This record gives sequence, C-alpha cells and structure tokens, in this order.
Amino acid sequence: MSAYVGLGANLGDARVALAAAVQALAALPATRLAAVSSLYASAPVDAGGPDYFNAVACLQTTLAPLALLRALQAIETAAGRTRPYRNAPRTLDLDLLLYDAVQCADAELTLPHPRMMQRAFVVLPLAELAPERVSAAQRAAVAGQRIERVAPAPDWYSSKR
Ligand code: AMP
Repeated sequence: MSAYVGLGANLGDARVALAAAVQALAALPATRLAAVSSLYASAPVDAGGPDYFNAVACLQTTLAPLALLRALQAIETAAGRTRPYRNAPRTLDLDLLLYDAVQCADAELTLPHPRMMQRAFVVLPLAELAPERVSAAQRAAVAGQRIERVAPAPDWYSSKR
C-alpha cells in the first residue's frame, strides 16, 4: 500500500528533527521509504512560534492504517513531542495524509487527513510526489500562503555526505 506522511517541526533544530524522522520512517517494519519531497519552510497556521519546516514522504507499507498511525506517534514521542495545548509548537509532527484510497473517520484516525488540502505545506510537497492527487483548484486554494522551498531531496535528509 502507498501511504503519504506529512512531516513538520518548528522547535529546536527542526531541520535535523525532520531528517531524523525520515530515517525513522525508513526503519519502520514492513515498510519501504519510496520517495521524499523537497524541504519547505512555512509560516505557522493557527499557531504561534517560529516558522515550520515541512516535507512529505511516501511509504510503501503492509502495516494497516491504524498500526502505521501508532508507529508515527511512537516516532513523535521518541523525538520528544509533548502536547501541552492544541497547535502548540512541536519538535515533530507526523500526519498520515493518505493511505491508498482508504476513507475512514473513527475516533483515532480520519483518512484522508481532514485538513491537509487547506495547507500549502502539505499541498506543495504532496504535489511533487503525487501530482495526480492534487488538483489545480486545490493548489490555487493555498496560493496565498507564505511558503518557501529551501532544499531539494535527497540533500536535506540524506545521511550520506
Ligand atoms: P496532532 O496532535 O496534531 O498530531 O493530532 C493527533 C491526533 O489526531 C491523534 O489523536 C490522532 O488519533 C488524530 N488523527 C486523526 N486522523 C489522523 C491522521 N490522518 N493523521 C494523524 N493523526 C490523526
């Protein structure tokens, strides 16, 4: 199955945190890291704090959607994520954006991610990896948001020098 994961961070060395998160995704069981987008910097949406770094990764996985979500939450926790209040600045945020064509809305997991298409920091990197999943109207809807592409893949996350 193809799963798309949104990565974000805006505390500490956010760029290093995202690169480490990519390595953690690549190390998940029953999962292969298929593609990673460029790295973006964006203004916080409905939240304070410094600018965010963002990217999207595509995984090929046989983990079920809920198992994958819990694995993402374990990576967030290992990165020191706490949730003092809604939309608080965070060391690492991993969202399950898409899982094949699965649609669901239960207590723990909503797919597709309900707010993803309102956010330029999801729409732009997702469009790099899966242009067929982002319409022209969806791109136009986020065109006013401040976002900057800061580094191409794989430069920003590769462990090789
Ligand atoms: P956040 O604190 O922003 O990372 O939100 C995490 C909460 O959203 C958790 O309680 C998840 O169970 C829930 N959630 C629902 N759907 C999703 C999704 N597609 N990806 C990530 N978290 C989700």
